[in-house]
Amino acid sequence: MKVGKQFNTLTYGEYLHLIENHKKFTDFNTLGLFRSIVETTKLSLEEKLELREVAVTAFGKTFEFLQLKDPVTYFGVNALGKTLTKADESQAWDDIRQNQQRILESKKLRHRNFGTYSKHECGQDTCYMQGLMTKQGSILAYYGSGGMGFGSDSCSWSKELKAERHKRDRKSEQRIISHRIMEE
Ligand SMILES: [Zn+2]
Repeated sequence: MKVGKQFNTLTYGEYLHLIENHKKFTDFNTLGLFRSIVETTKLSLEEKLELREVAVTAFGKTFEFLQLKDPVTYFGVNALGKTLTKADESQAWDDIRQNQQRILESKKLRHRNFGTYSKHECGQDTCYMQGLMTKQGSILAYYGSGGMGFGSDSCSWSKELKAERHKRDRKSEQRIISHRIMEE
């Protein structure tokens, strides 16, 4: 059975039904679920917060792993309903970085540039992604277009990507790839 609908078109009740019965749906995507909780405009904040609790309870391990796979979404899910100061924000990213190390060590995942995960190094000290481990071969383009509100002050993605494209050496190509964090 297929979900047959975009997550962000679902009502609160439909979300609950889907989470409860996720095993029956062959195309159920947990990452997509978490992303949509942040992005959907069909739910009130209260509904989003309740849904977050349901989803994190149901998919706790996947959610923890999002810190590596898609740290921007992880941050967004946690930040729901909170007013974060700059200091809170950078603390949250520090925590993510620490948790990433813990996950990598506990899973003995390879995390050099030749492994599955590579470190984000765009060379901008103010970039909030600086030093984050992210899964290779994923794309950041969506967030780079300003699709989400957070983090945009500290790193101007589209500008940065454009600048990168003008660089001639192959290493800058590599860096562009490491910027493509979002995946699927
Ligand atoms: Zn960067």
